[in-house]
Amino acid sequence: MSTYTGHPMSETRRTLDNLNFDNSYTRLPEYFYQRIDPSPLEATHLISVNPEVARLLDLDPEKLDDESLAHFFGGHATLPGAESIAMKYTGHQFGVYNPDLGDGRGLLLGEVVNQSGERWDLHLKGAGRTAYSRSGDGRAVLRSSIREYLAGEAMQGLGIPTTRGLCLVGSEEQVFREQIESCAALLRVSHCHIRFGHFEHFFYRGRPDDLKRLADYCIDRYFESAKTADNPYLAMFQEIVSRSAALVALWQSYGFVHGVLNTDNMSILGETFDYGPYTFMDAYQPGHISNHTDQQGRYAFDQQPGIVHWNLSCLAQALLPLIPREALESELDRFPEQYQAYYLKRMRSRLGLLAEAAEDLKLIDDLCRLMTQHKVDMTRFFRALCDFEGLEEMLDSLQPLVSDRQGLNQWLTRYEQRIKQEAATLPIRQMQMRSVNPKYILRNYMAEEVIREAQEGNYQPVNELLSVLRNPFEEQPDHQRYAEDVPDWAGWISLSCSS
Ligand code: AMP
Ligand code: MG
Repeated sequence: MSTYTGHPMSETRRTLDNLNFDNSYTRLPEYFYQRIDPSPLEATHLISVNPEVARLLDLDPEKLDDESLAHFFGGHATLPGAESIAMKYTGHQFGVYNPDLGDGRGLLLGEVVNQSGERWDLHLKGAGRTAYSRSGDGRAVLRSSIREYLAGEAMQGLGIPTTRGLCLVGSEEQVFREQIESCAALLRVSHCHIRFGHFEHFFYRGRPDDLKRLADYCIDRYFESAKTADNPYLAMFQEIVSRSAALVALWQSYGFVHGVLNTDNMSILGETFDYGPYTFMDAYQPGHISNHTDQQGRYAFDQQPGIVHWNLSCLAQALLPLIPREALESELDRFPEQYQAYYLKRMRSRLGLLAEAAEDLKLIDDLCRLMTQHKVDMTRFFRALCDFEGLEEMLDSLQPLVSDRQGLNQWLTRYEQRIKQEAATLPIRQMQMRSVNPKYILRNYMAEEVIREAQEGNYQPVNELLSVLRNPFEEQPDHQRYAEDVPDWAGWISLSCSS
């Protein structure tokens, strides 16, 4: 355990045993949660710690030691100042309302306020059974914990709002999923753990006073500017709609499939939340289903904007006691246009188009059609396009990704014409494009490779991959293989909710 050294810089640095907790959620009535301590995991050890997230909590990464992290986040001791709770929420799962949800295997340990006044939730995922576990064992397995930890850093690197992980703790405890697997715990750090489903709970329980209490809490903590609006609840809803539209537009722009977009997996702050069977697509396929148990494709890639809109309508329903129906409906009606604007903005930027031209949407749609027809690797295509200097050269360099030279030629010819309308010089455009078109993206096969190593006790590959994903726009010659062909076996990877 690190101690105060007397060095002036250390005055602002905290250690695990003196984090600056201020647990506002526990000041809500007890009906909102269950107070419960984590159940210790057997024989824990540290797999990874994230220095960037440590700094968010005013922790000095240099002074964190593996044993303390494994001890606290393996559930063997309570951090001084933490007051762990399982939050109650419900939600629509695959379109059906389920009143029995809540933190079934994760606990909000508390809220840390850092020296900049930022408030961070510390949530321990895999912390054991709670009142909301139903038949579950309260644990998270190593495989899915690594996937969530990697995804948080990959999203952060891309600039997409997300929860992140402070550290990952392994254990010798085992549980059964589709096979026997070892358990792990992820200390998740995020601005918010309030889901659409928190509101649905109080609405369907017929508790308008608690619904109002929750909304007031959210406005106080997250939507400060809504306070002065005529109807603060409506202003809060407007902000949630807008953030959700912005988030799903980013997913669509980068080929991300969440996999389980139930209302209990939707953060009110528009952060990517509760990673399960997610995928960053290799080949661009609008109908891509990431979760093999989702046979109907409810949560397929191209369904996501519509599903987020539907999820917002569930939230609107739950807010009916606080906001007039017509106001909610007119906000919901604005979602498609907001989504479209955010999507266009990012896709234009990916294409190096800083001006706005009427034909851009068609140019983008036609590119998506071309990518779909020829199963094009979206990430590699856009990164290659950053080098666009002339049509012939580009045709040659994109040929390995798009077999249809004629179709590609047609599209690139239009693109070349369009780009001529731009004011930016070539080097400026290339620099701008390289700052939004990643060279590296978290592909399922990469996660699978490092998971296999971790299951054998080798954690170096996980940590190495994390550092690659943190800088996805930089050239990283030592990791060039991650930017090349996806191995054939990647197509056989199957993901499910079982985690
Ligand atoms: P998820 O699929 O992770 O979004 O979880 C949906 C619901 O099931 C939430 O209420 C979780 O807390 C609960 N849950 C998922 N896995 C487990 C588990 N192993 N033990 C207890 N509850 C779980
Ligand atoms: Mg969930």
